[in-house]
Amino acid sequence: MIEIKNLHKSFGHVEVLKGVDVSIEEKEVVVIIGPSGSGKSTLLRCMNYLEEPTSGDITVDNMKLDKHADINKIRENIGMVFQRFNLFPHMTVLENIVLAPTKVLKISRDEAISTAMDLLQRVGLKEKANSYPSQLSGGQQQRVAIARALAMKPKVMLFDEPTSALDPEMVTEVLDVMKSLANQGMTMVVVTHEMGFAREVGDRVLFVDEGRIIEEGTPKEIFENPKQERTKLFLSKIL
Ligand code: ADP
Ligand code: MG
Repeated sequence: MIEIKNLHKSFGHVEVLKGVDVSIEEKEVVVIIGPSGSGKSTLLRCMNYLEEPTSGDITVDNMKLDKHADINKIRENIGMVFQRFNLFPHMTVLENIVLAPTKVLKISRDEAISTAMDLLQRVGLKEKANSYPSQLSGGQQQRVAIARALAMKPKVMLFDEPTSALDPEMVTEVLDVMKSLANQGMTMVVVTHEMGFAREVGDRVLFVDEGRIIEEGTPKEIFENPKQERTKLFLSKIL
């Protein structure tokens, strides 16, 4: 689904990604862990061209991501959920979800509303359809953000620390939605420090440090038997 070859990304003179190779299979759930500033967000943002690679090749669903690509078309296939919920504050929950499918995919309003209500049901927030984001808790807003991304019927979902801005009691409800999404076969790339989620849901864990994938393996391999010193050091700090 996603194929990345020798990806480099610099901001000015600072090289943030120093040659990343990774491929992500359909229906795979890949969890990315690593220290702050190691390049995790940049890597994720390159996957939907929110950042333009300095060099290297990225292919998503057999479409090459470069200057010549139809980036909007490719982005339609890639949903992204960020740490901050980024809902439009002046729109209701329902309008937030309906907006892109009607404007971008040109789906009829009736159909978009019907899909939106189904999605709200899936994330447990049907009764909040007519609320405004400010009337929702952080966890609820993040579930709406997931529903909004799903409304575009993406083939891949990227999550960048989706629970790290939430109060602890709201983390589970968001992880549960992500878990059910994974169980339904969504291809997912998730940057998170939630090791429970990584163990339970992740097919593969990538440990990123200083712009490189230092180690990768199953959650069991990475958490129980890490091979690299840097991985051990990182895990000793967070577990
Ligand atoms: P992580 O998500 O692992 O914490 P990031 O990918 O956000 O790391 O950042 C990696 C490095 O790139 C950091 O040193 C950060 O300051 C730098 N960086 C990220 N985005 C930009 C940007 N738009 N301009 C300049 N530097 C950036
Ligand atoms: Mg980040």
